[in-house]
This record gives sequence, C-alpha cells and structure tokens, in this order.
Amino acid sequence: MDISHLIDGLNAAQREVVTAPPGHLLVLAGAGSGKTRVLTQRIAWLVEVENVWPHAILAVTFTNKAAAEMRARCERLLNRPTQGLWIGTFHGLAHRLLRLHWREAGLLETFQIIDADDQQRLIKRVIADQNLDDTRFVAKQGTWLINAWKDEGKRPRDIDPGDNPDLMRWIDVYAAYEATCQRQGLVDFAEILLRSHELWLKQPALLDHYRRRFSHLLVDEFQDTNTIQYAWIRMLAGASGQVFAVGDDDQSIYSWRGARVANMQAYTRDFPGVTTIRLEQNYRSTGTILAAANAVIARNSERLGKELWTSAGQGEPISVYAAYNEQDEARYVIERIRRLVGEDLKRSEIAILYRANALSRVFEEELIRHSIAYRVYGGLRFFERAEIKDALAYLRLLANPSDDGAFERVVATPPRGVGDKTLEDLRGAARAADTSILTAAAAALRAGAIKGRARSGLESLGALIESLSPGNASPLGASDSLRLHERLEQLIDRSGLRAHYEAQSKHDADSRVANLDELISVAREFVLSAEDEAAGISEMAAFLSYAALEAGEGQGEAWDDCVQLMTLHAAKGLEFPCVFLVGMEDGLFPSQRSIDEGGNAQLEEERRLAYVGITRARRHLTLSYAESRRMRGQETWNRPSRFLSELPRNTITEVRPRAQLSRPGSYGARARVASDDWGDQPAIGLGTRVSHAQFGEGVITGAEGQGSHARVQVNFEDAGSKWLVLAYANLVVLG
Ligand code: ATP
Ligand code: MG
Repeated sequence: MDISHLIDGLNAAQREVVTAPPGHLLVLAGAGSGKTRVLTQRIAWLVEVENVWPHAILAVTFTNKAAAEMRARCERLLNRPTQGLWIGTFHGLAHRLLRLHWREAGLLETFQIIDADDQQRLIKRVIADQNLDDTRFVAKQGTWLINAWKDEGKRPRDIDPGDNPDLMRWIDVYAAYEATCQRQGLVDFAEILLRSHELWLKQPALLDHYRRRFSHLLVDEFQDTNTIQYAWIRMLAGASGQVFAVGDDDQSIYSWRGARVANMQAYTRDFPGVTTIRLEQNYRSTGTILAAANAVIARNSERLGKELWTSAGQGEPISVYAAYNEQDEARYVIERIRRLVGEDLKRSEIAILYRANALSRVFEEELIRHSIAYRVYGGLRFFERAEIKDALAYLRLLANPSDDGAFERVVATPPRGVGDKTLEDLRGAARAADTSILTAAAAALRAGAIKGRARSGLESLGALIESLSPGNASPLGASDSLRLHERLEQLIDRSGLRAHYEAQSKHDADSRVANLDELISVAREFVLSAEDEAAGISEMAAFLSYAALEAGEGQGEAWDDCVQLMTLHAAKGLEFPCVFLVGMEDGLFPSQRSIDEGGNAQLEEERRLAYVGITRARRHLTLSYAESRRMRGQETWNRPSRFLSELPRNTITEVRPRAQLSRPGSYGARARVASDDWGDQPAIGLGTRVSHAQFGEGVITGAEGQGSHARVQVNFEDAGSKWLVLAYANLVVLG
C-alpha cells in the first residue's frame, strides 16, 4: 500500500505524531506548528493504515467551519467519503447524541436549542415570577452564574449556598429556570453539554455502546476545553478509547468561559501512558512575525514551555501605526488594504482583528465608503437579527408546540391584537394546566374566553401552525410534501411577517426583507449531514439547531472574496496572509477590566490573546492604535497598548504619515516619521505642557495638518480636550 501521501512533507516530529502506535497522545505545540494539520492526517492514517472504520472515530474541532474543512481534507487524502465519521464541535456532537437519545436524556422529542439572548430573557421572567428585586437579582448575572454551574456539571441540588441568602435565591432561580426549560422543551448551550454528560452517567448501557463504537477520540484546541467537556471525553474514552489531543497552553483564551488549561496536565495524569510530543517548527509566519510573537508570550509566567522556529525568511517588518483618532486609524488601514488588493492579495486573505466587537463599526464605514466587500464574524450575527429570529420562531413553534418563547415572539410579530392582559391570562392558564401557552390558547378559544381582534388573531395563527405542521396532510398546505425552505417561505408570507417588515420605514425594510429572503435561501441550500440523517434527525430539527449553534459563525454562503473582520477570540485556529490588529490601546487591549482587577492571571490571558492575534499573520502584520478614540459616544485617551512595548524593536517599523510632532517615548523611542509630507516643525511636541489664555494649562496629545493648517490637540486640566489651530492659539510652552 502506498502511504506516502499521508506523511509526505511532514517533519520528523509531525511524522511521529501521525504514525504513532496505539495509545494516548498529547501534542503540545505553539501556533502554526501544524497541530490541526497532523490531527487531520492522523484521521486519514487511522483509516487507511490502521484500518480503523470511520464510524469508530470521533473528532472535536473548535468551529463547524473547521470541522467541514477537516472532513474535506480527509476525504481528499483518502480519496473517498468518510461517512459515519463524527466530526464537529463539542456542542454539535452532544446535540446529535441528545437528538438520538432524547428519551434517555429526559427531553421532549421536539426539544429546541435557545441562544444566549433567549436564555437571558427566560431567566429574567423567572426572576420576576419569584418576586425578586431585579435591581439586586440581575438577569445577566443569573445567566452567568447558571452557565458557570452547568459548565462545572452542577445541578441546583449540588450547590451548597452556605449561609449566603442571595446564593440561596439564585439556586431557586436556577431550579425554576430548569423547570421552565424542561416544560417547554428548551435547552441552552451549557445544558447541551451537561445533559449529554449526564447521559453517560445515568445510562451505562448507552455509554458502553458508544465506548465500543468510538475507539478513537481526537480533540483540537484542547487547551480551551472546560470541565464538563473534559469529563465528557474522559467518560467516553473509558479504559479502551484512545485519545489524541493537540493544544497550546499559550493560546488558552477562554478561561472566562470556564476553559481550564489545567485539563492538559489532567489528561497526562488521568490517562495511562500518554506520550507527549512537541512540534517546534512554525510553517505559518515569517521569521519577524514569529520573533515578535515569541517575545510577547515569553513575558508570561507558568508556561508549559515551548520553542518555535521557522525556516522562512525574515520577511518585512511589522508596521506599527499611531493614529490620531479612530477615524484616522480606519482610513489608514483601509488605504493599506486598497493598496494590497491592488497588488497581489485577495480580499479574503486580509483580516482586521480587534479585541471588542464595538471596534468594527468605524472600519465597516470606511470599507463601505470604498465599496470593499467585507464580512464581519460575530457582532450582530445573521441568526441573531430580530427578523431572522422572528421567522425562525415560526419554524420552532412548528417543530415544538411547547416552546412558549417561540409562541410569544410569534404572537407579537406581526401584531395580532393580542394584548398584554390576554397574554397574561394565557400564561396563567398554561401554568395552571401545566401545558404550553399554545395549548392554553386553543382551549381558551374553544371555551369562547377570548373575543374580538385577539380572537381572530389567535385563530388565524392557530390555523397557520396547524396547516404547516409536518405530518399534517391538510388540503391547505399539502404540508407533508413541502420542502424545508418552502415551508419557511409559506410561514413568512402567510403569517404576514414579510408584509410587516415591508411596511416598515423604507431603508430599514429593504435589508430586513432581504435578510428574510437570505434565510430562505440558506434553508434551500441546507444539507442534512449523513451522520445526522443516520441519527434520525429531521431536516427541520437539524436546520434549527444549525441556526442556533452556528449563530456565532456563518451567515449564508454568498461570501466569496471579502475582507474578514472578527474578534481575536473568533480568529483562533485561522491564518491570513495579511493581518491588521487594531485598537492596540491600554484599556481596550488589554481590556480595562483585566487592568483594573490587578491580578496577573487576567493580564496573562490578554497577552495570550495578543499572541493568538500576532500568530494569525503569515506575511504582513500591522498593529495600530489611536491616541484618542470616540466609542459609545465618549472620547477616551488611552496609552498605546503595553503589548506594543513588548515587541522587539528590531521587528517593527513605526508609521506616522501625517505627524508633525515627535512623540516622547510612548514606547521607548521617539516615533520615526515615515512620510514625505512633512511640514514646518513646531517647537513643541506631544507631551509638551502648554498654557492657553482662556483654557489654562494642559498637555499636547495630538497633532495634524501642516503649516498654517496645523492643529494640535491639548488636554487641558480644567477645560478638557480641545483641538486648536496652532497659528491662532497663542500657546505658551511651559518648562
Ligand atoms: P494554531 O495553533 O494557530 O491552531 P496549528 O498548530 O494548528 O496552528 P496548522 O494550522 O495546522 O497549525 O498549520 C499552520 C500552517 O502551516 C498551515 O498552513 C499548514 O498547512 C502549514 N503546515 C503545517 N505543517 C507543514 C509542513 N510540514 N509543511 C508545510 N506546511 C505545513
Ligand atoms: Mg490549529
């Protein structure tokens, strides 16, 4: 058998990994060293050389996109389909198990996934139902607490409140929330994992079945697994499953969501005879980018310790751009992008990465101004838009009539004349009869308890739901033969949702109606995976869970060559020839919170995030910061990110095209001027103390323009920050 294609081009350590003999294996290696690649090739190796049935392999990746790429790559290597191979995210795989074994998991067959937003809304209602003071019991905090408990594998009865009365109330909220979800057939993200872990604990026969089936478990990005995920894998592996884990402690960036880098050590302790292999050659970045990344991460303590080198050349230096403000930063970045696209890069090879979603807006505006196609990951995601959630609520109600959240959404949009009073009565009736609101509404209609517009509104809604429910052969809908997207389209049209959005103000309505159409085409192109189909999951159920789970990632398919915008967290595992890391300011990155809380742990996590950001770049890397930034309506003055000063001087070149003033040592040296449009040099520089007749004393913090147009920004002690025309301001330089 010719197996050379499975190992060709790999270095010795990588080859050792791919061809490892049976047993547990940990690949501990830095960014871009080929961890994901060897994991993929290992799967192909197992199938082709070790004759492992694809059916016996379960691989966990970080995103659904990564899973799809991994499967495609395996199929290319093997030159045949890999049906039966389970590959996906923890949530995706656990969800499939719950669909297969809903009864054993104690769920309704029609259960639906709710997103973070719906979860918080539900918790808010529970807090109100319990008559708790909602200024003291804030829904957001409750959501966080409940998710943290679930991530730790804890149910209300497992939590010891001590003598903390608030904690006791929160535990009650958790219990009531759980009961509500149970009744309505809803599971939140954390619940998916917890339930499927409980499935292992409570159903030994089932666990045994899956232990026999999955002889090989492979986990990418192992450093970001949380307690429950680790426990899940450990249970599934049992005594005989072989675990292959790859990770990088320096890229652990989800501890705020319960991820435990300690799982890597736990793994080598809990499993017998784990072989640890390190990969040290980086194949992604230039020598300069790698040197910068290594230097930054070297400042962290408690690392497991790895070295990375590359045989690639030094490449170009890293650009650091000091912008006057956020507008200037966006102008500069987009201008550079225009030039790069004009040269040899595709738009999709360029990424703008930032610490917080709020930063994307200025860049989007500038991209729009220049008609450059772009795509934002995260932010307000497609599946989280109001009109999309409205349309999906109809589908959810079809799939699961107990879903009260979906009912409430549907009954309100478009408005149906069902007022608050009627709704409150229906909720009460549903609670009293222990049924869903939809059922309670049907009963109330039959009893003649609802009159007028509310009556006709509810009747037509009921008729719509009934006629389009799968399995309903009503003459109206010929419902059973409808395809998913046809069913969705009928729901959108016949419910009046489309007309509702069309009637809204012109500009807004356009994009909302277009989004509804986009949703229909997403449904048309949706393909039920062979594994889901084999698990007996209906197309509608699979589509709804796709919409819930995938919310953070994709938005339809019509996204070819776009500049990519995303947070640093979302960029994990990806690579781009050209990366802009923007908003490099203390207070933004590292975040204010990580600075305020003083401890080193948070700052180190921010630094790991910087390491992740820098190591996404293959050839071109630019870091930028703004001296002043308007965000959320407020102007702030931030110092350049401390991470900038951690870059070795010989890896960077500073760019400050329109600057006239030298900047005293913001990070070590004086800024170099990289532009030829250099005007008269004023006698004052950034940081100089000046006095103004009217505003008093202050410090120069910014400058722009030349000659008679030169303006400076002064941060006055009493008067705040002002831009002044230098020629008229009559500033007096102090000391
Ligand atoms: P991260 O930590 O960021 O997830 P990683 O360790 O998973 O990175 P990969 O994404 O697998 O790294 O690989 C980085 C890049 O290097 C990819 O483009 C990959 O194809 C390439 N690469 C890996 N190994 C080799 C090799 N032996 N020869 C050539 N290219 C390689
Ligand atoms: Mg990877």
